[in-house]
Amino acid sequence: MTKQAEQFPFQAEVNEVLSIVVNSLYSHKEVFLRELISNASDALDHLSFKALTEHGLLGDDRELRIEVVPDAGRRTLTIRDNGIGMTRDELISHLGTIARSGSKKLMQSLQAEQKKDLALIGQFGVGFYSAYLVADRVTVVSRAAGADKAWQWESDAKGGFTIEEAERAGRGTDVVLHLKEDEREFLQEWSLRSLVRKYSDYVRHPIRLWVDRSAEKGESRFETVNQANALWARPRTEITRAQYEEFYKHVAHDWEAPLAWTHFKVEGTSELTGLLFLPRAAPFDLADRKPKGVRLYVKRVFILEDCEELLPEWLRFLRGVLDSEDLPLNVSREILQQDRATRLIRKQVVKHALGLLEELAAEGEVTEQDQDGKETKVRRYEVFWRSFGRLVKEGVHFEPEQRDRLVKLLRYPSTRGDELVSLEAYVQRMPEGQKDIYYVAADSLAAARKSPHLEALAARGYEVLLMTDPVDEWLVADVAEFSGKRLVSAAKGELDLPASDAEREQRREKAGQIKGVLDAMEELLGARVKEVRATDRLTGSPACLVTDEKGISPHVERLLRANGQDVPPQKRTLELNPDHPVVHKLRALAADPARKDQLREWSELLYDQALLAEGGMPEDPARFAQAVARLMQQVSS
Ligand code: ADP
Repeated sequence: MTKQAEQFPFQAEVNEVLSIVVNSLYSHKEVFLRELISNASDALDHLSFKALTEHGLLGDDRELRIEVVPDAGRRTLTIRDNGIGMTRDELISHLGTIARSGSKKLMQSLQAEQKKDLALIGQFGVGFYSAYLVADRVTVVSRAAGADKAWQWESDAKGGFTIEEAERAGRGTDVVLHLKEDEREFLQEWSLRSLVRKYSDYVRHPIRLWVDRSAEKGESRFETVNQANALWARPRTEITRAQYEEFYKHVAHDWEAPLAWTHFKVEGTSELTGLLFLPRAAPFDLADRKPKGVRLYVKRVFILEDCEELLPEWLRFLRGVLDSEDLPLNVSREILQQDRATRLIRKQVVKHALGLLEELAAEGEVTEQDQDGKETKVRRYEVFWRSFGRLVKEGVHFEPEQRDRLVKLLRYPSTRGDELVSLEAYVQRMPEGQKDIYYVAADSLAAARKSPHLEALAARGYEVLLMTDPVDEWLVADVAEFSGKRLVSAAKGELDLPASDAEREQRREKAGQIKGVLDAMEELLGARVKEVRATDRLTGSPACLVTDEKGISPHVERLLRANGQDVPPQKRTLELNPDHPVVHKLRALAADPARKDQLREWSELLYDQALLAEGGMPEDPARFAQAVARLMQQVSS
């Protein structure tokens, strides 16, 4: 006797994911089959892993498989597996909520407009809800392995679902799609056969299609339609580009094709096969430092979902599989943490990932086709860099053994244009006489480009790297030099530009001429500045502020404060341009004791506008505005 069905509402975000999936994938609706088969295949993997330690779990039902059963009479398509199954609670939480807190947060933070963006789907996976691309009602009947009861989940995707007790012969899950009127195509044998071949050929478990020959008085039966062997175990030459791409979509739950991949076999004392992919876009939870997305297999048996022990954190953008011949089948996280084989695998992963990145970095423009067949020219390394460059920077710090190779993979925009430049290319095109590698750090590229600190460097034709990522500041301190050239901030310390003896003498002389102004301003500005001195950094601006060699840049200081960190106020040096007319005027003011108040006001103005010029704020904006207004009144019209 079955009890009444219980009603449950979907968690709010589920409705949103449902509508994004259904609206944006409308023209690619056949992907539902790949998604449901992937879920079934995962359920089989989880079961076989559990069965390694729980003997008897498989019982008599040992042949793990996926079945696809069309029923033209009822207009249903069933995807069935004899995998791990779901309990009542699991049905409610797995199919009624978005469990991953990251996805939930992402959904909450999105604007309505953004929710139509197809690329977003890749960030949280297409998943089970794609069933509603072709079905107006879905019934899931599942019995968890080892449980004696089965449960039914059903929903027409209109805000909620029902749960009730059900009958099911053995363990596993049936996903029954009640197809929409105009989706009969998905009941046809040829269409299902070709979809499975196209999307799911690499699935390791047999996918059997129910072939109904009753109309022709023939024998109806199940036919296995996929190759059912592990894709990564096949020789590279036998795998097509399309197969690699589909496999990636399966393991990464991504909607887009991967950017690149490396498929390697290591033989000898330790045997390992790896198939590692670079996605195109960063997932929303990239900041979460745990590497996930690379699965561990041992001799083709699925072992662990996210094997964080096998890859360093900075490689957490990788997706794919590792298959070891050496680890024991009953390997656990604890064993992995200690095993020598783990270290060897980790080394191989780093080696092959670096090799792949270096290959991309050396590559020129390539032509790529997007989902709709449109061709574009791209530099794949730039795509990678924009999505994951941050992690290469982490690698420089955390992977000391590979530091030299990683430093060569760094890329920055520069004053030469928007194209990203490597340190190697920078050094190669340095004009004669330039000793150091220059960079400037700011909140934005626009602010960096306009930084007054670049003037003298630009006048000499020196290229300056533009850095906007707060971690760059630490990274540069860490790297310190490349190919024997120091990395020097255009806004820190003394620039010490190469100069002839005569030029140096001239500079000293000019500084001497404005000594009176320098001393007077230093006194008037008091605690605000560390020092006021003559500059060799400026050509067009009257003044700029300079951080100590070891100090933190003002934009990083602002960022730390905004994050609630207690940063001691940084006293900086004000540098004046002895050639600038404003500084000449200041000289005149400083020479006349009666005009001390005016000198004070001008000093403050100059200090405030140096702050403004580098993207900061005057300490007292109202006072600054009044001073400017007074100054404007003085100008005769
Ligand atoms: P994802 O697979 O990306 O986690 P889905 O929306 O596709 O997201 O599925 C949600 C969850 O439902 C899965 O993680 C899994 O726990 C469960 N699930 C889905 N299909 C099956 C199945 N055939 N057997 C067992 N569990 C399943």
